[in-house]
Amino acid sequence: MVGEMMGLLRILVAALVAWGLSASAPARAYTLDLKPMTCAGEAGSMEEAFALTREQLSCAPDRFDVRGPFVRSSTQLKTPLDSGLAWQTNAANFRSMLVRFTYADGRSRLVDVDPQMTARNWFPGNRFSVPVPSSQADLVAIDAVVERPFTRSVAGAARLTSLADSERELYSRSLAYMFMFGLLILPLLYDGLFYRVLRQGFVLWHFLMVATTSLFMLFSSGLVNEILPDIPLDLRWRLTSLFQALSAGCGAMVIAGLIEKRFLPPRLTMAMMVSALLPLIVKFIATFGGELTRITINNWFVFSFAPVVILISIVVAVALSRGSRGARWALAAMSGLMLVVAWRTVVAFSGSSLPFPINDMVFAGFVLLSLVTAIAVGDRFTGLKHEHDEAQMRAIRMGQMANTDGLTGLANRRAFDMVRTLKTGQGLLVADIDHFKQVNDREGHQVGDAVLCNVAGLLKGHLPAMDGREDDGSPGCVYRLGGEEFAAIVEVMEDHQLIALADRLREIVGRSGGEEGTAGLPQVTISLGVVLGRGQMMHEAFGAADRALYRAKREGRNCVRIGDADDCNADARVSQGSTTFGRAGA
Ligand code: GH3
Ligand code: MG
Ligand code: MG
Repeated sequence: MVGEMMGLLRILVAALVAWGLSASAPARAYTLDLKPMTCAGEAGSMEEAFALTREQLSCAPDRFDVRGPFVRSSTQLKTPLDSGLAWQTNAANFRSMLVRFTYADGRSRLVDVDPQMTARNWFPGNRFSVPVPSSQADLVAIDAVVERPFTRSVAGAARLTSLADSERELYSRSLAYMFMFGLLILPLLYDGLFYRVLRQGFVLWHFLMVATTSLFMLFSSGLVNEILPDIPLDLRWRLTSLFQALSAGCGAMVIAGLIEKRFLPPRLTMAMMVSALLPLIVKFIATFGGELTRITINNWFVFSFAPVVILISIVVAVALSRGSRGARWALAAMSGLMLVVAWRTVVAFSGSSLPFPINDMVFAGFVLLSLVTAIAVGDRFTGLKHEHDEAQMRAIRMGQMANTDGLTGLANRRAFDMVRTLKTGQGLLVADIDHFKQVNDREGHQVGDAVLCNVAGLLKGHLPAMDGREDDGSPGCVYRLGGEEFAAIVEVMEDHQLIALADRLREIVGRSGGEEGTAGLPQVTISLGVVLGRGQMMHEAFGAADRALYRAKREGRNCVRIGDADDCNADARVSQGSTTFGRAGA
């Protein structure tokens, strides 16, 4: 079963990777990555920024400073391009933007890009398109001035693409993103169902993780523009990072829940949970930091994920080394994201630009994370359910053992003491074997035990079962009070029915032993004291029945006496049965 699951998982991973690769296919011929041709710099005003000369710009866009309020990027096309083009850049937060397109004939056109153009012309993968105004002459240069950008990528990560192909790509990529989004939110339903059955915190955390990850994807990919076309860029930008921070936090909680408690290193786990708050704290500072933190906070935010990522890795690694099954699931779930992060790191350190929008692969990683953790939640759930059932069974068995007599299997004194009252319509019988000490003395203790078991079986076998007593797993309504003394609670309405029942039991026990009996045991007789219920406390009823029993003993044994229900004195009334059902053989 587990093998098949792993096989299925492997196929799923392979399919996701293959599909992720194809969905985010490398820059095609018509798409021109402008990063290598772009220089950038900063200035105090829009005019100042446009006036910057080539010499005043830095041509390593990764390193240019964007703390100034206006950032200028300048791209000189190596080969001029004709019309039907779109300029695309990152839809990160900014206040305003002017783009100047310069043509081969020396003329230029200025396009005013308002922040809402990022929603109107959104492109899957946190991008948006600015159509290049058409001209007779070829396009040779693009200059953009961005007011208060929140990251360098607004100015530094642009590309040019043909309008027709951009449309086509928009369609196919939107489809791919919607598909990923659909897969991502699928486990929400599943979590809901699980939570109904087993109220485990980690199922809720998983729900929250999937929900915030889905929202993060919805907002950061730009898909949200399809649902909320009027959402301001600033709000979208802030919500994106908020959902990202929340998703990482919930992720840490899911990991802590997936791994079995005994495999979790407690201090590291605590550190992991605390570190999950860091991105949220940075996010909080970013929200209220204003202009002071505009650019720097973006870097802080990225780095604020490092501690939780590292601690999650350590916790999973430690649990794995201890043989945790949950940790194996966690590793499988994170494998996609780890690959993408490793890839990103290699690309970042190699200094070259990304071979294709790695964002798409990140989302494929999230899909894998959400689906595999969903299966893992199911697996952990099954484990917990099993443990839960076992514990419940143990508790039931312990309860039964505590209330059962070890020799005869009847309910014991403890169980009897739990019965509070003798209700109307019930009768109490207390039976004691006559001269049992002699049986022990003559035949030995083992035979004595066998006699006790035989009497217990006869009493239980010949008493009418009481309603609701047979099905609840309790040993029934016959008790061994101790030694050779038994009690039974039966359903009867009248004195004479109760006496008749007691006398029948007396006869059955008396006939079972000896030479004529079938039990192969010495013959014994029992004496019984009985009392009819009228809602009195059980200890009162028992006192009356016990006194009646001792009357029976006093008056010759092997007979039945009824206790007066209203009488609490030692003197029990002689039952009518004493003449009718007198001492056998007397
Ligand atoms: P009476 O007719 O007055 O009830 O006389 P009795 O001999 O039955 O009563 P007594 O209380 O003198 O003796 C009860 C005996 O039951 C004493 C004890 O050794 C024996 N007994 C108590 N528990 C067990 C048991 O679990 N197994 C066996 N074999 N004997 C037991
Ligand atoms: Mg006895
Ligand atoms: Mg006794």
